[in-house]
This record gives sequence, C-alpha cells and structure tokens, in this order.
Amino acid sequence: MPDMETIVSLCKRRGFVFQGSEIYGGIGGFWDYGPLGVELKNNIKRAWWKAMVQDRGDIVGVDAAVIMNPNVWRASGHVDTFSDPLVECKNCHHRFRADQIKGEACPNCGNKGTLTEPRQFNMLFKTHVGPVEEDAAITYLRPETAQGIFVNFDNVQQSMRRKIPFGIAQIGRSFRNEIVTGNFIFRDREFEQMEMEFFCKPGTEDEWHARWRDERLAWWKTTLNISDAHIRVKVIRREGTTIIGPDPEDVQAEKPPHYSKGNYDIEYKFPMGWSEIEGIASRTDYDLTAHQKLSGKSLEYFDDETKEKYIPYVVEPAMGVDRAVLVALFESYQEEKVRDEKRVVLKLPKQLAPIKVAVLPLARNRPEIVAKAQEIAATLRPHMMTVYDDSASIGRLYRRQDEIGTLYCVTVDHQSVLADDEKYDGKVTIRDRDSMEQVRVPIVQVKDWLVGKLAE
Ligand code: ATP
Repeated sequence: MPDMETIVSLCKRRGFVFQGSEIYGGIGGFWDYGPLGVELKNNIKRAWWKAMVQDRGDIVGVDAAVIMNPNVWRASGHVDTFSDPLVECKNCHHRFRADQIKGEACPNCGNKGTLTEPRQFNMLFKTHVGPVEEDAAITYLRPETAQGIFVNFDNVQQSMRRKIPFGIAQIGRSFRNEIVTGNFIFRDREFEQMEMEFFCKPGTEDEWHARWRDERLAWWKTTLNISDAHIRVKVIRREGTTIIGPDPEDVQAEKPPHYSKGNYDIEYKFPMGWSEIEGIASRTDYDLTAHQKLSGKSLEYFDDETKEKYIPYVVEPAMGVDRAVLVALFESYQEEKVRDEKRVVLKLPKQLAPIKVAVLPLARNRPEIVAKAQEIAATLRPHMMTVYDDSASIGRLYRRQDEIGTLYCVTVDHQSVLADDEKYDGKVTIRDRDSMEQVRVPIVQVKDWLVGKLAE
C-alpha cells in the first residue's frame, strides 16, 4: 500500500483534491475537489444511491436543509453533548484531543507536564439566521445529516404511504469543528455523508442491525474492490469492543455513542492504522422520542394490520464520502515494473473511474489524424466521460491516463485515417488499462465496443 504522501501528491498533481483556499495559505480541515476528484466522488455517491434507493423497494430519498431550527439540535443532544475533550499545551499553545494523546508529553513540543486539564469542546459550528446577530438568532450548521431525516419521518411516511419497515436515505454536507483535523481528507471540518435511517418495529432491531452490517460490508467490498485483509468490523457494545476480521488484537476499546444501543463500525486499514469508514448504529427510538417530546408533535406510527401504535426503532448505516474517496485511492493505487520502468496505475473499479476513455492522436502534426481523433472523442462524449489529449508523446499520454485510472485509451494513427498509407485499415488501437493489451477496432464500431465493455 502507498503512503499518505504519495496519495496526497498524486491528488494535487493530477487534479483530484486541492487544499481549500490554497492561494491564501489554506484553511485547516477544508478541501476542494478538482475535476477528477468530483467525478470519482459523484461515481461513489451514484453507486451508493443505486444500491440503497434505486435497487430496493423499501428505501426512499430526501434532501433536507443544512440549517435547521436550533431546537433540532437541542432535542438530538448535540447542543449539550456533541463535544470532545480538549487539552492545550501551556508551552507551545497547540491543542489536542485528550483521548488521542498517549503519555504526558505534548505531541508537538515534547514538553512534559505542560498540558492543561481536559475541558469539553463543542464541535457545532454556530451561525446566525436573519439580519440580527443576537443570541436568539443563533443556529448551527448540521453535524450529521440524520436529523433532517428524523424530523421528516412523518412527512415521508404519510406522503409516500410507507409501511414499516422502511428506510429514508440522504446524501449531504455535514460540518464539525474538529479539534484536530488531519490525514488528508480523512478528518475534515466540512465533509459529505451518506446516511440511511431504517425504521423498524421495536424488537426487530437486532436482526436489522446484523443485516445492515452484512449488506454494508458487502457493498464496500464489491463497490470499491477492497481486499479482505484491509477491511473489518468493530463491534462496539456496552459490555466491550471486539473485532470481526483481521488484526483482532489491534483494537481500541470504545463505548457506543449516547444515542446508540450498539455500533458496528466498518474499518479500513489506512497507513495510519485501522480507522472508521462507516458506522452502523442501533439508535433505538432515541431520536424520534426526543423530537416528539420537544416539538409536541406525535411521531408515533400506526400499524394498520395489528392496530398497534408505537415509535419505530432505527438502524442507521452512516458513511463519509470523503473517506470512501480515500479508500478508493489507496485500494486501487499500484506501482508495477513494465520493461524496467515504473508504471503507476489506479486500478479503480469500472464504475468509479473518473474518465472511462481517452482519445489520443499518435501524431499531433498530422491534421487528418488530429481531426479524426477529435471526431471520435465527440461521438463518445454523450455515452461516457471522455477526454482528448494531444499534449505529449504517446508513451507519456498512456502514463498520465494510467495514473488517473482511465479504463481505455483509443489511439488514432496513420493506418487509421490516411487512405494513401499502404497499411490503411480504418481502425484504431484500443488499449486496456489493466492488461495493457491492445486491439484494433474499426472506427465505426468504437462506440459500441466501449459501451459493451463498460456494461460487462
Ligand atoms: P470518528 O470517530 O472518526 O470521529 P464518528 O464516529 O464521529 O467518526 P459518525 O458520527 O459515526 O463518525 O459519522 C459517520 C461517518 O461520517 C463516519 O464513519 C465517517 O465516514 C464520516 N465522518 C465523520 N466525521 C468526519 C470528519 N470529520 N471528516 C470526514 N468524515 C467524517
């Protein structure tokens, strides 16, 4: 597996991820996705939405506002308890999360005995709504998308005539004023989440919790093509923390969050160690009950068949899109030796690759070749993400496309277009990213050939 530096540098050099506000020196915990990063991210989101909403009959989507009535965050417990323990070094004034420090020394300056006692630091970002800046107008940027689903439970259930069990899915930005950010896009202050709240009958939650653990683990493995050695499940219960999967001894004990009866955290083996990429929480009726109490609106569900009335229990798979982007990059990055030269290739799964095909003219000083290559690129664009590039020699162009994970390169040469060339065949060369095998395909068939390959 590559180290973090390698991935960060590839991301900047090739247009996946840039430091936020870079020309002003950046701003900690905020990142900007470049042209390739946004494609990769959109492909991951599309794959999740398809698996969670489109392919199933029992889940529907919403897109709630980022800013909500501040009572939402009082009811959910975030105003009072969404905090991490903060310590500050009296010598160098660096700040740390107390639970991430080992020993007494300051991790920055190394001085001993200079760290303050921990105090709770609330991670909600505050803002004001409307043209006044008084305390009454204070609200928060959402730290999770889940609450936008809970407050719409009744709206969705009624308008869509849903019967329990059913789920509501959402993709959107979340904001947390993390004490320490780091490890590139792993821990940000602004990030994107994909969360789904699955509403079920009390008493069936353990079964659904186990089912969602298995579904989500399978989704990560197949969608991001993750090898078994790099992914595992951390089982967090009040009684203790255990691991299903590799390195069971390498585990930090944890307690489930205040709203949860138990968690399955899916973890990936990053260079900095096993870290959470998705949490599957058994949230009981905690949130709906809290909202019912503070809002005064009934959030009970009436079961037509059994004539029972109850507040549904909730199982929530919640993942971060940015962490998934990072996993996709680590898992697909490979360095190979090809004819004594290093080849860097991102072996991204087909549906995730930002660019599906690059069309390259072999000789950029031959107008007929250039024109034909541009024409082929134009016919491919409506069907797949396509780029045209004539800015370097063919060897360099292949290397560039390999490094960003482009699935196929179509090369237009003399034989393809020059009718007076003795080897003229009206075909182009299509090169496969992974096998590097090349085949000649008639120009008129290129689109269908590629569409067929992408659908395989
Ligand atoms: P961590 O323990 O790493 O702080 P968490 O347990 O607070 O994460 P959850 O509240 O369960 O995270 O959020 C669900 C998912 O959202 C996480 O699994 C992660 O993928 C993503 N996520 C949470 N916080 C961040 C962050 N600061 N930056 C990027 N992604 C995040």
